[in-house]
Amino acid sequence: MAFPVTRLRRLRRTAELRNLVTETRLTPDAFVYPMFVCSGEGVRKAVRSMPGVFNLSVDEAVKEAQEVHSLGVPSVILFGLPDKKDEVATGAWADDGIVQQAARAIKREVPGLILMGDVCLCEYMSHGHCGIVKSTFTPKSLGAAVMDAVKPSQRVLAVKGKNREEEDKAIKAAVSAAAHAVQTSFEIDNDSSLELLARTSVSLAKAGIDIIAPSDMMDGRVAAIRRALDEATLINTPILSYAAKFASGYYGPFREAADSAPQFGDRRSYQMDGANLREAMREIEADIEEGADMIMVKPALPYLDVIAAARSRFDLPLAAYQVSGEYAMIEAAAQNGWIERDRVMMESLLSIRRAGASIILTYYAKDAARLLA
Ligand SMILES: [Zn+2]
Repeated sequence: MAFPVTRLRRLRRTAELRNLVTETRLTPDAFVYPMFVCSGEGVRKAVRSMPGVFNLSVDEAVKEAQEVHSLGVPSVILFGLPDKKDEVATGAWADDGIVQQAARAIKREVPGLILMGDVCLCEYMSHGHCGIVKSTFTPKSLGAAVMDAVKPSQRVLAVKGKNREEEDKAIKAAVSAAAHAVQTSFEIDNDSSLELLARTSVSLAKAGIDIIAPSDMMDGRVAAIRRALDEATLINTPILSYAAKFASGYYGPFREAADSAPQFGDRRSYQMDGANLREAMREIEADIEEGADMIMVKPALPYLDVIAAARSRFDLPLAAYQVSGEYAMIEAAAQNGWIERDRVMMESLLSIRRAGASIILTYYAKDAARLLA
């Protein structure tokens, strides 16, 4: 039945009619609010690239958690900023780790709030990678690598500075040798990282974290975490796996918030290539087989098709993370007066919901909940 019998505008005439036929509804109980916890007392340190987002000491995190809960948002996800970083991510799994402290305090003061714990090592590693870094060839210093790449005759000339041309050649060779050594001399070791991730998960669950959310993208980590939780009799602790997490430019502001930028290289050897939808389905399938209770796609807005595909293919509760860069773009444009902030905020959340995510991790959880009240 076509026009003029069919007129789609009939049901758009009034706000009441539009509301009656709306297909997708946002409610605060779909939201999870991310929080960054640091040491100290009374600390509320603004994250420059994420207006309205702060690094919070445990006491301030408790206040924030109370506010989140009072707005009808059922859950927060905790990230930690440890005082010290090292090569085995001690701060991630220590009993007195910063997230463990925050979890105990929030559980005590706001028992009705669901606590998610992000499980990764990057915030706690001195090198900022999500797993254990291993050298891929016989370790040799940068200096030794340079010396190997430059001929002895050039070395003499370079040192003596007699021949300008030879000297330049020697310096160029040294620089490229150094760059090459840095590029090829490390690997994020998958299997040895699993033990630390499992240990972290058990420690967080014991501290009161309700849902373990591994974000590292190591192969086999869901199985390793499930096994460790069960062995520790934490059989009722669910796993929300960041199953399809893409290597993304949208994480930039988060790295400031969580102080977790890699000191060398990038994360493309473990996070997914943004071009691959079929591989994302394999990642999700693998995590489900390993025992994930819920799955997540991250980032959200540039990967709505991945969310939609995951929704139609898998029956587990599906989460999506509206990441720091998505938030920062809206905030920046709004501050310039180029867009209506609240309108774009709600539209972006609605699109994630419409794509099929039932749970949305978002820095807008509080503001959106206020608008929906
Ligand atoms: Zn990480």
